[in-house]
Amino acid sequence: MIIVMNPRAGEEAIRRISTRLEEMGYRIHRSTGENRTILGVIGQRREEVAQTLEALPEVEKVVYISRPFKLVGREFHPDDTVIRLGEVAIGGPKLAVMAGPCAVEGEEQLLESAWAVKSAGAQILRAGAFKPRTSPYSFQGLEWKGLEMLSRVREETGLLIVTEVMDQFTVKDLAACVDILQVGTRNMQNFYLLRELGKIRKPVLLKRGMSATIEEWLMAAEYIMSGGNYQVILCERGIRTFEPYTRNTLDLSAVPLIKQLSHLPVIVDPSHATGKAELVPAMSRAAVACGADGLMIEVHPRPAEALSDGPQSLNPEQFTRLMEDLKGVARSVGRYV
Ligand code: PEP
Ligand code: MN
Repeated sequence: MIIVMNPRAGEEAIRRISTRLEEMGYRIHRSTGENRTILGVIGQRREEVAQTLEALPEVEKVVYISRPFKLVGREFHPDDTVIRLGEVAIGGPKLAVMAGPCAVEGEEQLLESAWAVKSAGAQILRAGAFKPRTSPYSFQGLEWKGLEMLSRVREETGLLIVTEVMDQFTVKDLAACVDILQVGTRNMQNFYLLRELGKIRKPVLLKRGMSATIEEWLMAAEYIMSGGNYQVILCERGIRTFEPYTRNTLDLSAVPLIKQLSHLPVIVDPSHATGKAELVPAMSRAAVACGADGLMIEVHPRPAEALSDGPQSLNPEQFTRLMEDLKGVARSVGRYV
Protein backbone atom coordinates (compact mmCIF):
# COMPACT_ATOMS: atom_id res chain seq x y z
CA MET A 1 0.00 0.00 0.00
CA ILE A 2 1.01 3.62 -0.24
CA ILE A 3 0.30 6.29 2.33
CA VAL A 4 -0.39 9.70 0.86
CA MET A 5 0.52 12.13 3.62
CA ASN A 6 -1.44 15.27 4.18
CA PRO A 7 0.43 18.25 2.62
CA ARG A 8 0.54 19.81 6.08
CA ALA A 9 2.09 16.73 7.74
CA GLY A 10 5.40 17.68 9.32
CA GLU A 11 8.69 15.83 9.27
CA GLU A 12 8.20 14.56 12.79
CA ALA A 13 4.89 12.87 11.94
CA ILE A 14 6.32 11.31 8.77
CA ARG A 15 9.25 9.88 10.75
CA ARG A 16 7.01 8.67 13.59
CA ILE A 17 4.68 6.81 11.21
CA SER A 18 7.60 5.33 9.22
CA THR A 19 9.36 4.11 12.37
CA ARG A 20 6.18 2.58 13.77
CA LEU A 21 5.55 0.68 10.53
CA GLU A 22 9.17 -0.50 10.40
CA GLU A 23 8.81 -1.83 13.94
CA MET A 24 5.80 -3.78 12.71
CA GLY A 25 8.01 -5.41 10.03
CA TYR A 26 7.15 -3.25 7.01
CA ARG A 27 9.74 -1.80 4.68
CA ILE A 28 9.26 1.88 3.96
CA HIS A 29 10.22 3.73 0.78
CA ARG A 30 9.78 7.46 0.90
CA SER A 31 8.94 9.71 -2.02
CA THR A 32 9.09 13.42 -1.28
CA GLY A 33 7.25 15.37 -3.96
CA GLU A 34 6.75 19.07 -4.42
CA ASN A 35 3.49 19.15 -2.51
CA ARG A 36 3.36 16.04 -0.44
CA THR A 37 5.21 13.02 0.82
CA ILE A 38 4.18 9.50 -0.16
CA LEU A 39 5.29 6.43 1.76
CA GLY A 40 5.51 3.12 -0.06
CA VAL A 41 4.83 0.41 2.50
CA ILE A 42 5.98 -3.06 1.51
CA GLY A 43 4.82 -6.02 3.56
CA GLN A 44 1.79 -8.07 4.41
CA ARG A 45 -1.58 -6.51 3.62
CA ARG A 46 -3.55 -5.91 6.85
CA GLU A 47 -6.84 -4.10 6.79
CA GLU A 48 -6.66 -2.93 10.40
CA VAL A 49 -3.26 -1.28 9.81
CA ALA A 50 -4.66 0.66 6.86
CA GLN A 51 -7.69 1.75 8.90
CA THR A 52 -5.58 2.94 11.83
CA LEU A 53 -3.36 4.91 9.48
CA GLU A 54 -6.26 6.47 7.66
CA ALA A 55 -7.69 7.76 10.95
CA LEU A 56 -4.54 9.82 11.59
CA PRO A 57 -4.90 13.54 10.83
CA GLU A 58 -1.47 13.58 9.10
CA VAL A 59 -2.60 10.94 6.59
CA GLU A 60 -4.66 11.98 3.59
CA LYS A 61 -5.39 8.49 2.30
CA VAL A 62 -4.13 4.93 2.10
CA VAL A 63 -4.16 3.33 -1.34
CA TYR A 64 -3.63 -0.30 -2.29
CA ILE A 65 -1.65 -0.76 -5.48
CA SER A 66 -2.98 -3.70 -7.42
CA ARG A 67 -0.25 -3.59 -10.10
CA PRO A 68 2.76 -5.80 -9.38
CA PHE A 69 5.16 -2.87 -9.57
CA LYS A 70 4.83 -0.47 -6.67
CA LEU A 71 7.81 1.90 -6.41
CA VAL A 72 8.09 2.15 -10.18
CA GLY A 73 4.45 3.23 -10.50
CA ARG A 74 3.11 6.76 -10.86
CA GLU A 75 1.02 6.36 -7.71
CA PHE A 76 4.16 6.23 -5.57
CA HIS A 77 5.80 9.18 -7.33
CA PRO A 78 3.29 11.34 -9.22
CA ASP A 79 5.94 13.76 -10.57
CA ASP A 80 8.39 12.68 -13.26
CA THR A 81 11.67 11.46 -11.80
CA VAL A 82 14.56 13.64 -12.90
CA ILE A 83 18.01 12.12 -12.39
CA ARG A 84 20.65 14.76 -11.84
CA LEU A 85 24.33 14.22 -12.50
CA GLY A 86 26.09 17.53 -12.02
CA GLU A 87 24.76 19.80 -14.73
CA VAL A 88 23.09 16.98 -16.64
CA ALA A 89 19.48 16.12 -15.88
CA ILE A 90 17.83 13.00 -17.28
CA GLY A 91 14.04 13.32 -17.44
CA GLY A 92 13.89 17.10 -17.64
CA PRO A 93 13.11 19.33 -20.64
CA LYS A 94 16.62 19.01 -22.10
CA LEU A 95 17.09 15.70 -23.91
CA ALA A 96 19.79 13.45 -22.47
CA VAL A 97 21.99 12.22 -25.30
CA MET A 98 24.36 9.32 -24.71
CA ALA A 99 26.56 8.58 -27.69
CA GLY A 100 29.76 6.79 -28.52
CA PRO A 101 31.13 3.53 -29.87
CA CYS A 102 29.66 0.15 -29.10
CA ALA A 103 32.95 -0.87 -27.47
CA VAL A 104 36.11 0.70 -26.16
CA GLU A 105 38.67 -0.44 -28.73
CA GLY A 106 41.64 1.66 -27.63
CA GLU A 107 42.45 5.02 -26.10
CA GLU A 108 42.72 6.89 -29.39
CA GLN A 109 39.46 5.54 -30.78
CA LEU A 110 37.70 6.37 -27.52
CA LEU A 111 39.08 9.87 -27.27
CA GLU A 112 38.29 10.60 -30.89
CA SER A 113 34.72 9.38 -30.40
CA ALA A 114 34.36 11.35 -27.17
CA TRP A 115 35.39 14.70 -28.67
CA ALA A 116 33.20 14.06 -31.70
CA VAL A 117 30.04 13.35 -29.70
CA LYS A 118 30.78 16.16 -27.27
CA SER A 119 31.20 18.76 -29.98
CA ALA A 120 27.92 17.62 -31.53
CA GLY A 121 26.15 18.21 -28.19
CA ALA A 122 26.06 14.85 -26.38
CA GLN A 123 26.58 15.06 -22.62
CA ILE A 124 27.23 11.38 -21.93
CA LEU A 125 29.75 9.03 -23.55
CA ARG A 126 28.66 5.45 -24.06
CA ALA A 127 31.15 2.62 -24.69
CA GLY A 128 31.33 -0.95 -23.47
CA ALA A 129 34.45 -2.25 -21.74
CA PHE A 130 32.80 -5.61 -21.06
CA LYS A 131 30.88 -6.84 -24.08
CA PRO A 132 28.21 -9.53 -23.98
CA ARG A 133 28.72 -11.04 -27.44
CA THR A 134 26.59 -13.74 -28.99
CA SER A 135 29.70 -15.60 -30.16
CA PRO A 136 32.58 -16.46 -27.82
CA TYR A 137 34.89 -15.88 -30.81
CA SER A 138 33.87 -12.24 -31.26
CA PHE A 139 35.72 -9.33 -29.63
CA GLN A 140 34.83 -9.45 -25.93
CA GLY A 141 35.92 -5.96 -24.96
CA LEU A 142 39.07 -4.60 -23.31
CA GLU A 143 37.53 -5.22 -19.87
CA TRP A 144 39.45 -3.54 -17.01
CA LYS A 145 41.89 -1.84 -19.39
CA GLY A 146 38.90 -0.41 -21.21
CA LEU A 147 37.48 0.84 -17.95
CA GLU A 148 40.74 2.66 -17.17
CA MET A 149 40.54 4.29 -20.59
CA LEU A 150 36.98 5.38 -19.89
CA SER A 151 38.10 6.97 -16.61
CA ARG A 152 40.89 8.88 -18.32
CA VAL A 153 38.64 10.08 -21.13
CA ARG A 154 36.06 11.16 -18.55
CA GLU A 155 38.73 13.29 -16.86
CA GLU A 156 40.00 14.73 -20.09
CA THR A 157 36.69 15.59 -21.77
CA GLY A 158 34.37 16.21 -18.82
CA LEU A 159 31.80 13.88 -20.39
CA LEU A 160 29.80 11.58 -18.12
CA ILE A 161 30.29 7.87 -18.75
CA VAL A 162 27.77 5.07 -19.14
CA THR A 163 29.05 1.52 -19.51
CA GLU A 164 27.67 -1.99 -19.18
CA VAL A 165 27.98 -4.02 -16.01
CA MET A 166 27.74 -7.73 -16.72
CA ASP A 167 27.50 -9.36 -13.30
CA GLN A 168 26.89 -8.73 -9.63
CA PHE A 169 30.58 -9.17 -8.72
CA THR A 170 31.78 -6.09 -10.61
CA VAL A 171 29.04 -3.64 -9.60
CA LYS A 172 31.02 -1.88 -6.87
CA ASP A 173 34.22 -1.51 -8.90
CA LEU A 174 32.35 -0.10 -11.88
CA ALA A 175 30.24 2.18 -9.71
CA ALA A 176 33.45 3.68 -8.35
CA CYS A 177 34.59 4.97 -11.74
CA VAL A 178 31.60 5.54 -14.03
CA ASP A 179 28.51 7.75 -13.78
CA ILE A 180 25.77 5.41 -15.02
CA LEU A 181 25.78 1.60 -14.98
CA GLN A 182 24.11 -0.04 -17.94
CA VAL A 183 22.26 -3.34 -17.71
CA GLY A 184 22.15 -4.90 -21.16
CA THR A 185 19.18 -6.58 -22.78
CA ARG A 186 20.59 -10.05 -22.05
CA ASN A 187 20.83 -9.30 -18.35
CA MET A 188 17.52 -7.56 -17.73
CA GLN A 189 16.32 -10.45 -15.62
CA ASN A 190 19.61 -11.27 -13.94
CA PHE A 191 18.10 -10.89 -10.50
CA TYR A 192 21.36 -11.18 -8.58
CA LEU A 193 22.74 -8.33 -10.64
CA LEU A 194 19.59 -6.26 -10.15
CA ARG A 195 19.69 -6.81 -6.40
CA GLU A 196 23.30 -5.68 -6.22
CA LEU A 197 22.42 -2.58 -8.23
CA GLY A 198 19.72 -1.84 -5.67
CA LYS A 199 22.43 -1.46 -3.04
CA ILE A 200 24.41 1.29 -4.78
CA ARG A 201 23.45 4.94 -5.10
CA LYS A 202 24.32 5.52 -8.73
CA PRO A 203 21.98 5.72 -11.72
CA VAL A 204 21.26 2.49 -13.57
CA LEU A 205 20.32 2.42 -17.25
CA LEU A 206 18.06 -0.61 -17.58
CA LYS A 207 17.68 -1.84 -21.12
CA ARG A 208 14.57 -3.73 -22.07
CA GLY A 209 15.08 -7.47 -22.43
CA MET A 210 14.81 -8.42 -26.09
CA SER A 211 11.80 -10.62 -25.33
CA ALA A 212 10.52 -8.85 -22.25
CA THR A 213 7.03 -7.49 -21.84
CA ILE A 214 6.68 -3.98 -20.51
CA GLU A 215 5.55 -5.38 -17.17
CA GLU A 216 8.57 -7.69 -16.89
CA TRP A 217 10.80 -4.75 -17.67
CA LEU A 218 9.15 -2.58 -15.03
CA MET A 219 9.44 -5.43 -12.52
CA ALA A 220 13.18 -5.55 -13.21
CA ALA A 221 13.28 -1.84 -12.35
CA GLU A 222 11.29 -2.63 -9.21
CA TYR A 223 14.07 -5.02 -8.12
CA ILE A 224 16.57 -2.17 -8.22
CA MET A 225 14.26 0.33 -6.55
CA SER A 226 13.19 -2.08 -3.84
CA GLY A 227 16.82 -2.14 -2.71
CA GLY A 228 16.66 1.62 -2.19
CA ASN A 229 18.29 2.80 -5.43
CA TYR A 230 15.62 4.97 -7.02
CA GLN A 231 17.77 6.22 -9.89
CA VAL A 232 16.64 4.00 -12.74
CA ILE A 233 16.54 5.07 -16.38
CA LEU A 234 14.62 2.78 -18.74
CA CYS A 235 15.93 2.20 -22.25
CA GLU A 236 13.80 0.82 -25.08
CA ARG A 237 16.21 -0.90 -27.50
CA GLY A 238 13.88 -2.97 -29.65
CA ILE A 239 12.33 -6.38 -29.17
CA ARG A 240 12.48 -9.62 -31.12
CA THR A 241 9.74 -10.11 -33.68
CA PHE A 242 9.38 -12.11 -36.89
CA GLU A 243 10.75 -9.21 -38.99
CA PRO A 244 14.24 -9.92 -40.36
CA TYR A 245 14.87 -6.61 -42.20
CA THR A 246 15.74 -4.88 -38.93
CA ARG A 247 17.85 -6.31 -36.11
CA ASN A 248 14.94 -5.82 -33.68
CA THR A 249 11.60 -4.04 -33.81
CA LEU A 250 11.60 -0.68 -32.08
CA ASP A 251 8.57 -0.54 -29.81
CA LEU A 252 7.99 3.18 -29.61
CA SER A 253 4.55 2.73 -28.09
CA ALA A 254 6.40 1.65 -24.95
CA VAL A 255 7.51 5.25 -24.43
CA PRO A 256 4.14 6.99 -23.95
CA LEU A 257 2.79 3.87 -22.24
CA ILE A 258 5.55 3.89 -19.66
CA LYS A 259 5.03 7.60 -19.15
CA GLN A 260 1.50 6.71 -18.01
CA LEU A 261 2.49 3.78 -15.83
CA SER A 262 5.72 5.08 -14.35
CA HIS A 263 7.55 8.20 -13.24
CA LEU A 264 10.94 6.90 -14.43
CA PRO A 265 12.77 8.52 -17.35
CA VAL A 266 12.70 6.56 -20.62
CA ILE A 267 15.26 6.83 -23.37
CA VAL A 268 15.46 5.09 -26.75
CA ASP A 269 18.36 3.28 -28.43
CA PRO A 270 17.61 3.28 -32.17
CA SER A 271 21.02 1.75 -32.99
CA HIS A 272 20.44 -1.67 -31.43
CA ALA A 273 16.75 -1.45 -32.30
CA THR A 274 17.30 -1.24 -36.04
CA GLY A 275 20.84 -2.53 -36.58
CA LYS A 276 21.12 -0.13 -39.53
CA ALA A 277 22.83 3.25 -39.40
CA GLU A 278 20.61 4.59 -42.18
CA LEU A 279 17.49 4.06 -40.05
CA VAL A 280 18.90 5.68 -36.91
CA PRO A 281 18.12 9.35 -37.72
CA ALA A 282 14.44 8.73 -38.54
CA MET A 283 13.88 6.55 -35.50
CA SER A 284 15.68 9.07 -33.27
CA ARG A 285 13.37 11.83 -34.44
CA ALA A 286 10.36 9.57 -33.89
CA ALA A 287 11.57 8.71 -30.38
CA VAL A 288 11.84 12.37 -29.44
CA ALA A 289 8.43 13.08 -30.98
CA CYS A 290 6.74 10.40 -28.88
CA GLY A 291 8.16 11.71 -25.62
CA ALA A 292 11.48 9.96 -24.99
CA ASP A 293 13.66 11.71 -22.43
CA GLY A 294 16.80 11.03 -24.39
CA LEU A 295 18.64 8.81 -26.82
CA MET A 296 21.49 6.33 -26.80
CA ILE A 297 23.25 6.29 -30.16
CA GLU A 298 26.27 4.38 -31.39
CA VAL A 299 28.86 6.62 -33.02
CA HIS A 300 32.24 5.44 -34.29
CA PRO A 301 34.93 7.55 -35.96
CA ARG A 302 35.19 4.95 -38.72
CA PRO A 303 32.18 2.59 -38.57
CA ALA A 304 33.61 0.29 -41.26
CA GLU A 305 36.53 -0.51 -38.94
CA ALA A 306 34.48 -1.00 -35.76
CA LEU A 307 35.15 -4.21 -33.83
CA SER A 308 31.45 -4.47 -32.99
CA ASP A 309 28.19 -3.05 -34.33
CA GLY A 310 29.78 -1.07 -37.17
CA PRO A 311 26.74 -1.37 -39.49
CA GLN A 312 24.51 0.43 -37.00
CA SER A 313 27.02 3.11 -36.01
CA LEU A 314 26.83 6.68 -37.26
CA ASN A 315 30.01 8.48 -38.20
CA PRO A 316 30.67 11.84 -36.50
CA GLU A 317 29.27 13.87 -39.42
CA GLN A 318 26.04 11.87 -39.49
CA PHE A 319 25.69 12.25 -35.74
CA THR A 320 26.29 16.00 -35.91
CA ARG A 321 23.61 16.33 -38.58
CA LEU A 322 21.19 14.27 -36.51
CA MET A 323 21.71 16.48 -33.46
CA GLU A 324 20.89 19.51 -35.63
CA ASP A 325 17.78 17.83 -37.05
CA LEU A 326 16.55 16.91 -33.58
CA LYS A 327 16.27 20.55 -32.58
CA GLY A 328 13.03 21.18 -34.47
CA VAL A 329 11.39 17.94 -33.36
CA ALA A 330 12.36 18.60 -29.75
CA ARG A 331 10.94 22.11 -29.89
CA SER A 332 7.64 20.81 -31.24
CA VAL A 333 7.17 18.65 -28.14
CA GLY A 334 8.31 21.27 -25.65
CA ARG A 335 11.88 20.08 -25.23
CA TYR A 336 15.33 21.05 -26.39
CA VAL A 337 18.60 19.40 -27.35
C1 PEP B 1 25.14 -2.03 -26.08
O1 PEP B 1 24.55 -0.99 -25.70
O2 PEP B 1 26.27 -2.02 -26.58
C2 PEP B 1 24.43 -3.32 -26.00
C3 PEP B 1 25.09 -4.46 -25.98
O3 PEP B 1 23.10 -3.17 -26.00
P1 PEP B 1 21.93 -4.26 -25.81
O4 PEP B 1 22.12 -4.82 -24.45
O5 PEP B 1 20.69 -3.41 -25.94
O6 PEP B 1 22.05 -5.25 -26.92
MN1 MN C 1 26.46 -2.29 -29.56
